[in-house]
Amino acid sequence: MATHCQVLVVGAGPAGGSLAGRLAAEGLDVVLVDRLADLRQAAFSSAALPRSAVERFGLPACVQAAQWRGWQLVGPGDSQRCWDAPESLGAVLDFGALRLWLAERATAAGVQLRLGLTALSCREEPGGGMVTDLRGAGGERTTIRSAWVVDASGEGRALLGEPPDHTLVSGVGVEWLLEVDEARWRSWSERLSFFMGSRWVQQGYGWIFPMQPGQLKLGVCRLEQAGHHQPPLAGELQSLLERTGLADAPVLDRHGGRIRSTIRRREPHRRGRLIGLGDAVSTANLLGGEGIRHALLAAEVLAPLLARAVRNGGDGHRWLGYHALGRYEAKLRRALGWRWSLSGRLARRTWLGLNGPRGDARLETLLSGLAGCSAADLSALLFEYRFERYGARALPYLLGWR
Ligand SMILES: Cc1cc2nc3c(=O)[nH]c(=O)nc-3n(C[C@H](O)[C@H](O)[C@H](O)COP(=O)(O)OP(=O)(O)OC[C@H]3O[C@@H](n4cnc5c(N)ncnc54)[C@H](O)[C@@H]3O)c2cc1C
Repeated sequence: MATHCQVLVVGAGPAGGSLAGRLAAEGLDVVLVDRLADLRQAAFSSAALPRSAVERFGLPACVQAAQWRGWQLVGPGDSQRCWDAPESLGAVLDFGALRLWLAERATAAGVQLRLGLTALSCREEPGGGMVTDLRGAGGERTTIRSAWVVDASGEGRALLGEPPDHTLVSGVGVEWLLEVDEARWRSWSERLSFFMGSRWVQQGYGWIFPMQPGQLKLGVCRLEQAGHHQPPLAGELQSLLERTGLADAPVLDRHGGRIRSTIRRREPHRRGRLIGLGDAVSTANLLGGEGIRHALLAAEVLAPLLARAVRNGGDGHRWLGYHALGRYEAKLRRALGWRWSLSGRLARRTWLGLNGPRGDARLETLLSGLAGCSAADLSALLFEYRFERYGARALPYLLGWR
């Protein structure tokens, strides 16, 4: 078992799995650890992606559970609005399969993958290297020494910790994987369906996404608001099951998770030789509750900078290594773009406002403004944050006037 490497990546999610493979492909000696013993387990993410992301990151058919080519928005009451495109607009991934594929690609490139290991803490040695303490599934302790450590452990930020002086906005979701007959599967296939309004989910939304034939993902999520009573999500999920006629469907898996972001993303991305990646540095977007493609993008941005830092930062050239990484935060901010930032800021207003009749009335106005859009316009609005497609009607909302 290696206890020395150039880069230790903690977390084999989309961010860490992708980064580890990229670094190994550059010839670096990389160890990738995850607390999960099986990367197919705890597949908490609904994993809906637009076509552009599937193509950009070369995601193969084996990780795509279903294609979607339309939108169905239900709410604020029972009214339904549908938009369909002639061709696929994206995929719903099997999140476990995605993690597995990334890890297999990484190991094929030379990464040493060690599962069932939880990173507990890390520290910089006086000589400049990093020492990370880990715990195995049976409680045994182990140590890995490396030149650099990447915290890709998701919203929990296992090594970086909570960003100081930066408030984290937090969303929480639960999702069930259901088994349904072909007829019921067909009625939900090929579309991403969302349920919005306070009578569906208080301060959040519900969804039904198709998976492979015979399976659907049904979930609910909401933004958390401290000091404000919010009904338990389990009850909202049960109500969604009943109102959509899916309450009798056998449940194949139950999972859930949290998305947390500082929204403005001004937190430090690095502490010495410890670098944050993906959800650990708030790349998840809370408006759409999605972060897979942003985590993959962050890995794409960091990989060449870190590879340069490892090569330049050998003994006696420590500052050169640091210098290479100096542009990481700015580059990532530029890659995510101002639209990402604007949409993140809209998230709080959009979701927290859905708490009663006033919020529902505003939602109704927003949704009726979408009547003239095509399915592709809606994708551009929701995935590319191209609010201008919505026309001048969006301006008062974007400016906070309504
Ligand atoms: C309910 C829900 C639905 C979602 N739906 C979508 C969606 O439809 N589309 C979308 O794009 N995004 C969605 N997301 C968000 C998306 O899943 C995340 O943004 C994305 O997974 C972030 O990738 P990551 O690699 O940064 O972190 P993660 O995917 O969280 O990966 C972190 C990894 O680190 C491991 N780990 C954690 N702590 C330790 C430790 N101490 N030691 C070792 N390993 C550790 C974990 O086991 C995990 O494998 C959803 C999230 C939730 C919660």
